[in-house]
Amino acid sequence: MPNNETNLQAVTLPHAWSVRSWRTRPAEQMPRYADPVELEGALAELGRLPPLVTSWEIQSLKQQLAEAQDGKRFLLQGGDCAESFDECSSDVISNRLKVLLQMSLVLVHGMRKPVVRVGRFAGQYAKPRSADMEIIDGVSLPSYRGDIVNGPAFTPEARRPDPRRMIKAHARSAMTMNFVRALIDGGFADLHHPEYWDLGWVGHSPLADEYRHMVAAIGDAVRFMETLSGAEVHNLNRVDFYTSHEALLLPYEESMTRQVPRNWGWFDLSTHFPWIGMRTAQINGGHVEFLRGIRNPVAVKVGPSVTPDQLLRLVDVLNPEDEPGRLTFIHRMGAAHIGAKLPALLDAMRRDGRRVLWVCDPMHGNTEPTANGYKTRRFANIAGEVEQAFDLHAAAGTRLGGVHLELTGEDVTECLGGARELTELDLERAYRTCVDPRLNYEQALEIAMLIVRKQNQ
Ligand code: PEP
Ligand code: MN
Repeated sequence: MPNNETNLQAVTLPHAWSVRSWRTRPAEQMPRYADPVELEGALAELGRLPPLVTSWEIQSLKQQLAEAQDGKRFLLQGGDCAESFDECSSDVISNRLKVLLQMSLVLVHGMRKPVVRVGRFAGQYAKPRSADMEIIDGVSLPSYRGDIVNGPAFTPEARRPDPRRMIKAHARSAMTMNFVRALIDGGFADLHHPEYWDLGWVGHSPLADEYRHMVAAIGDAVRFMETLSGAEVHNLNRVDFYTSHEALLLPYEESMTRQVPRNWGWFDLSTHFPWIGMRTAQINGGHVEFLRGIRNPVAVKVGPSVTPDQLLRLVDVLNPEDEPGRLTFIHRMGAAHIGAKLPALLDAMRRDGRRVLWVCDPMHGNTEPTANGYKTRRFANIAGEVEQAFDLHAAAGTRLGGVHLELTGEDVTECLGGARELTELDLERAYRTCVDPRLNYEQALEIAMLIVRKQNQ
């Protein structure tokens, strides 16, 4: 019976998942810790520390993402490329929250649908790098992999991967979470008072008038509804805010992954919404294996080299039950490539009846060096990729359900162009990122306005 034999061999039963099963797979981008005892000690300590989020918050985010998948909501995901331990400060955190709240206000007002707000913060401390080592003047040291792994200074001490940094990252994430939760519970995100979210330097912005106009219109609408109903409109004084980060450093994620009494299964309680980056999305790799077994909603970055077949296999592994809200694909192609690369992926998914939430990251495919030595992104390319994404989804019969952005509430000059037409010379004034260039407040608001215009076309 040669046929049966062949069939038997072809069937590979899915192997059992455990919080440690990723360790049996090749995992890219892992630091090499010198002392296994020190590493296990840090992980054991982390495993005893309380989690940063809860399983019921994670479930409610999954529900909101399911609604975004159905076109009833729009996802706004944004924050720093990398948080740093030094910038875990009140101003940086509240300014970032202000920008995200203002953008979401523009989106809610313009799109007439609720927004799912997800920060790239409270744990965005691990970075993938293109090379393991960095060589300067003949000296070779391990690359900087984010504050959770090592330090940015080019010295052997700073660059040594230090497991104790995971404990510090957990603490800084908890402080960030705590402050965000306190601000929101205290009424910071109250729709009755959008003026709380104004950033000092915004007054002179070319966009200020349009924004103020919108705020006034929303204030009128809120008061009108309250007059009609004779009462305060509740849930306008509180918005939901969720967190996300790249689930890159798997030993850390493993130690934060717990079984909870209230919900069945395993949850990664370091964040609500972990994603895996373009460099660690190998179907047989450790990162996909880890994400496979946790119950959080998960996302995968999809770059220009991904084939339709690879995408379908990722769905097989990460969302075999077709659970709504479970899987998000964040495409990041670059303005020059999205037109050639995205349609085949959208077609394959639609033809196969696979459902995911599609999100556009217009940042990571549009990074380029300037003549004066900065790593930058052109606003025109970022805006162009978002616009093309809307058109390509419409043409393919799929839906763009959100955006993923790198932005900051600080007055930085890292991306070129925008309403203030920043030039290469402007970059010298306030270029502060130690990893990727971010949209500043004004450029971020401009993207929100552009999304509204595009959607309503
Ligand atoms: C990032 O989001 O900072 C990142 C490194 O993205 P990607 O994996 O898409 O390159
Ligand atoms: Mn980045």
